[in-house]
Amino acid sequence: MTHLDATTLLRGAGLRVTEPRRAVLTALDGMPHASADGIHARVVETLPDVSLQTVYNVLRDLTGRGLTRCIEPGDHPARYELRVGDNHHHVVCTHCGAIADVDCVVGQAPCLTPGEDHGFVVAEAEVTFWGLCRDCQTADAPLAAVAAQD
Ligand SMILES: [Zn+2]
Ligand SMILES: [Zn+2]
Repeated sequence: MTHLDATTLLRGAGLRVTEPRRAVLTALDGMPHASADGIHARVVETLPDVSLQTVYNVLRDLTGRGLTRCIEPGDHPARYELRVGDNHHHVVCTHCGAIADVDCVVGQAPCLTPGEDHGFVVAEAEVTFWGLCRDCQTADAPLAAVAAQD
């Protein structure tokens, strides 16, 4: 993956460049669909004083400015990614919460049109496909397999 220029991204979005913001963007560059916990774990490797709450605040600011996208897959914790603005969708494992990107279902955004638009001009469709990921399909006893990975 090309090295992300966090400073340029932040400036372009009109956000002040801070070390936690740069660190969160850099962490997300290497792990798409990370949770706030996962991002925090990565950030403290270089900035040990950054709290989880700071990471949440940074993610809120970045998402508010369109630099990151927040996905909230059902009961699983929210995930964040840098791939924004392309109306892509997600497939989520109902068992372990693994997420993968799925390109537009049909053509360009919105790739699905509602049967009734209720007078809205529809710009995007966000679709979540649910299923079992490859690991969870092959596990004989899925719960035991997940526990064994820790
Ligand atoms: Zn799974
Ligand atoms: Zn995605």
